[in-house]
Amino acid sequence: MTALYIITFVVGSIVGSFLNVCIYRLPRDLSIILPPSRCPACNAPVKPHDNIPLISFIFLRGKCRHCRAKISPRYPLVEALNALLFVLVVWRFGLGWHTPFLFAFCSAMIVITFIDLDFQIIPDAITLPGMVVGFIAGSLILPDPFDRFSSLGFRESILGLVSGGAVFFLIAEVSYRILRQEAMGGGDIKMMAMVGAFMGWKSVLLTTFSGSLMGSIAGIFFMVLKGKGRRTKIPFGPFLAVGALISLFYGQELASLYLKR
Ligand SMILES: [Zn+2]
Repeated sequence: MTALYIITFVVGSIVGSFLNVCIYRLPRDLSIILPPSRCPACNAPVKPHDNIPLISFIFLRGKCRHCRAKISPRYPLVEALNALLFVLVVWRFGLGWHTPFLFAFCSAMIVITFIDLDFQIIPDAITLPGMVVGFIAGSLILPDPFDRFSSLGFRESILGLVSGGAVFFLIAEVSYRILRQEAMGGGDIKMMAMVGAFMGWKSVLLTTFSGSLMGSIAGIFFMVLKGKGRRTKIPFGPFLAVGALISLFYGQELASLYLKR
C-alpha cells in the first residue's frame, strides 16, 4: 500500500508540473505542448534535469540556473497540491477505471483556481470538455461522493449537470438585476455544470454552500483589510473549486453529520 501511495504521489507531481504549463499558457492562448519550458526572465530553455517536479526547485534553491532569477514558489506548490489530491483520490476511492477521471477532475480544479486568481476567467477549454467527460464517466463508472461504494449513475449525473448550470444561471441573473453588478460570470456557471456532471446534484448543493461561505468570509476579510468597500472584486472560482473538493472527499461525512442532528 505504501508503494502505491508513493507512486501515486510521484505521478501526481509530474502531472502537477504539466498543470503549471497549462496555468501559464491556457489564458495566454499559447500551445500547451510546444515549445518546451523556458525561464520567463532570461528565456534560457529549462533542461530536463532542472525540470524534475518538487526536487529541482529545492536543488536550484528556487532560482534559475542561468540568470538566478527567482522561480515562483507557486510552481512547487501546484505540484505538491496535485500530488496530495491524487493520493487522496486513491486513499478515498481505491484504484479502478474511475481513478484517471477523478485525477483529471482534481487537476482541473487546481488549474481553474490559479487561472481565475490571475485573470478572473475560467477557460471554456476546461469546463466544456469537463461537462462532457463528467457526464459520460459519471453515468458509467464514477462513484457517488455521498455514497462512496455505489456508483453515481446517469440520473444523478444529468441532474447534477442541469442543476449546477441552471441554479447558477439563476443566481447570476438575480444578482445582476438586484445588485447591478456581475456577481458571477458565465465561467462559474459552466464550472458548476461540470462539477454536477462529475458528482451529482447533492455535490452541487454542498459545493455552492461551502464555496459561498468561504467566499463571503474571504470577502469580509479583504474589505476589512483593504477598506475598499463592497465593490472589491474577488474571483469566485477558487472557492467553488475548494468546495467541490471538500464535497468529493468529505461529502459523505458532512451529509451524515448534518442528518444525524
Ligand atoms: Zn533565467
